Formats: sequence, C-alpha cells, structure tokens
Amino acid sequence: MTTAFITHADCLKHEMGAHHPERPARLSAIEDQLIASGLASYLTKFEAPLASDEELSRAHPLEYVKAIREVAPRAGTVHLDPDTAMNPHSLNAALRAAGAAVLATDLVLTKKHNSAFCAVRPPGHHACRARPMGFCIFNNVAVAARHAIHQHGLERVAIIDFDVHHGNGTEDIFEGDEHVIMASIFQHPFYPYSGTDNPASNMFNVPLAAGSGSKELKAAVTNTWLPALNDFKPELIVFSAGFDAHAEDDMAMLRFTDSDYAWVTEQVKTVAERHAKGRMVSMLEGGYSLSALGRSAVQHIRALAGLN
Ligand SMILES: [Zn+2]
Repeated sequence: MTTAFITHADCLKHEMGAHHPERPARLSAIEDQLIASGLASYLTKFEAPLASDEELSRAHPLEYVKAIREVAPRAGTVHLDPDTAMNPHSLNAALRAAGAAVLATDLVLTKKHNSAFCAVRPPGHHACRARPMGFCIFNNVAVAARHAIHQHGLERVAIIDFDVHHGNGTEDIFEGDEHVIMASIFQHPFYPYSGTDNPASNMFNVPLAAGSGSKELKAAVTNTWLPALNDFKPELIVFSAGFDAHAEDDMAMLRFTDSDYAWVTEQVKTVAERHAKGRMVSMLEGGYSLSALGRSAVQHIRALAGLN
C-alpha cells in the first residue's frame, strides 16, 4: 500500500505579508524535494477537500468556526494576532488544511493507504479551542483525531509533535481527554512558553534546552515517548510534523539533522505497527528553512512509507 500525499493549490494562495516566514514557498520546497529524491513516484496524490463546520466543530466551538468565517476578508489583510493574518484566500486554505486531515484519516482508517502526509498550510498546533494563534487558524491534528474517534469509533489516538514549538493549542483541546495522548518535544523556554507547568496526565511533554540535538531527541523518545505510547496502545497515530527544530532553521535553536526526522518517524512507526495496524496520519506544521524543510520532509515521508 502506498502512502497518500494530500495538498491543494488553495494552500499556496494564503499569504500573511511579504516577509512572513510561514509562506507559500514552503509547500513548493517540499514538492521539489519529493521530485528530486524520486520519492514522489511512490506516493498517491490527492486534493484536499474543504472541511465542514461539523468536522471543525469537533475540535473548536461552532461559534469560533463561524467567527473565523465572518472575519475572513474579501480584500486586503486582517490580523488575528500579531503573527497570524488572513488574506482573501486564507479561509479556503485553512478549510483545505483541516479537510486534508479528515481525508487522510478516512484513507488510513478505511485501509486505502497505511499512511498519509498532508502538505498544507496554515499549520494548526497553536490553534486553541477558541483562539487562533502563532500562524494557526484551525487545529488540523485535532480535527483528524476527533474525526477518527467520532466518525470511525476509535477509542485511542496518539498525537506526536516534533515541531520546535510546544503544541499549546493541541494541549488546550485534549488535556484530560481519555481518548487522546500527546507526546512532544519542544525548545524551552521558548514561544509559546507553555507545556511545562503541571501538564495533564495525558500529555507527555519533553522540554529541550536551546542547543539540544540528536542525542537529546533520542533520549526523549526512548525514555518518555515510547513507554507512554506502548502503555496507551494507540489505534491511530497523528503527527504534528514541524521541521523547525532543524539545525539550519533560524526560527529556533535546536540542532536536529535530516536523519533525525527519519529516526523519530521509524521509532513511532514501530509503535504504529505493534498497536495501530501501521496507521499514521501526518500534518505539516512549521519548518522555515526551505532547503532543510524539503529534505527533512522527504526523510519523514520516506520513513512513513517504509522506503528506508
Ligand atoms: Zn514551530
């Protein structure tokens, strides 16, 4: 079974300003490297549908979804927070990003594909229950996890977040939820300055000091993530796949390498194969050095597809 690759041209039209790091070229960088590496020919490509209000409202209050629809501009730019803006294409891009999460979950849970990677933007893991934040509008991994639980009847979904920033929105949505655990690493102290103050018992957060690299990642995964995941026995794994912890990424100060993204994916894949019939859904989050982003995404997707 091949790995699904889900994206949409609408996600290239969402722009938040000329010098904003979360830019359309990020998706082109990933597609370029998929072609250059030869990996593209092993993937089955899908266009992301628009998420429905029902699908979004499993992760966000319906009033929030309606407020985002209302604030979306017909012309010009509207700022949702100092870092997050909408242009006239942003609403559709955000609906496609969340819709990709739904389609990926459907493809994987109906056995059409073992795994799926969604090259979409805006990202989602800072989007809280009722607040956009940090380049994020809807929480895409939360939409995937809740779709798996409500539509497909799953009892246990694990979210893996290896973005350099703490997924505070995902934690806000799932803290104390018996159906979901989140295992994450993030630079600390660093934006959004969360994840370390008495996290709920279903949150397996490992803060890493600036300068941490492969060794600290491996310790976090081996000592914290894998025991938690094997104990929980997830039926589906959903990645918040951010690549901004790469050493070449100026957004933060962790020192991961290309091969770390293959390694961490392979470790999680062993859990997926043991407990979840190999089922994995991966949503793009951060990653702002275009070259490192493209190369790292290839490492991650190749490992998802079992082509290493
Ligand atoms: Zn990030």
